[in-house]
Amino acid sequence: MLNYSFLSGPLVAMSRKLRILIIEDEAAIRIGLIDVFVYHGYEVDFSGHGVEGLDRALTGKFDLILLDVMLPGMNGFEICNRIREQAHDHAIIMLTAKSSDEDIIEGLSLGADDYVAKPFSVAQLVLRVQAVLRRTRNGLAQNKTIQLGNDLSIDCQNLTGRYGAENFSFTRREIEILQYLQSNTERPVSREELLNKVWGYARHLDIETRTVDIHIAKLRRKIEVDPAEPQFLITVRGAGYRLLGQSR
Ligand code: CA
Repeated sequence: MLNYSFLSGPLVAMSRKLRILIIEDEAAIRIGLIDVFVYHGYEVDFSGHGVEGLDRALTGKFDLILLDVMLPGMNGFEICNRIREQAHDHAIIMLTAKSSDEDIIEGLSLGADDYVAKPFSVAQLVLRVQAVLRRTRNGLAQNKTIQLGNDLSIDCQNLTGRYGAENFSFTRREIEILQYLQSNTERPVSREELLNKVWGYARHLDIETRTVDIHIAKLRRKIEVDPAEPQFLITVRGAGYRLLGQSR
């Protein structure tokens, strides 16, 4: 259940209120979350239904979506998938009811930025929200384009890529991984380091390490001519991943 202790004070004044959409069918949790995020200075919208929640997510302007998994109408995984197909720039945190491995992997590989397992403490959730928003907002201010080889150009701001005449899109997390590897091209980067620096996890579980591999595999399917024989996003055995082949 929600735990209201350890709340920090309201956020200091910002130029614009950050907007959060809460999609959660359990009224007590939903109302608790609305109160907490309004108290912390966010502008909050909400829905208790899957289909309506998806509609809000796609038609409104939000910085972050808190997304429950078990919902009437449409489950959170499906909603996450649909949002990622159409609008790539929302940050999404999944509220997983069961903290089972499969839930976590599925949520994170569908493009959620993070997950919080129920029951969660409100203080922990607020910290996760702040961390995800800080990361997503900083990340996009970084390198604007990544050029790989002669033909592949990645627009980090618009989360899109172009290979010759072919266009495709990335999730924000995929771009963050590329940006982190790009700023450390002189060495391989371990999965643990990616979890620390890109996901913001101080400690991690094996399951999350596998999530890194899933993201790398998805990235390779987008940026490599032959994902089985990567030219750009290579594995350094026993050490991690490295980004090669950049041109300016
Ligand atoms: Ca639910």
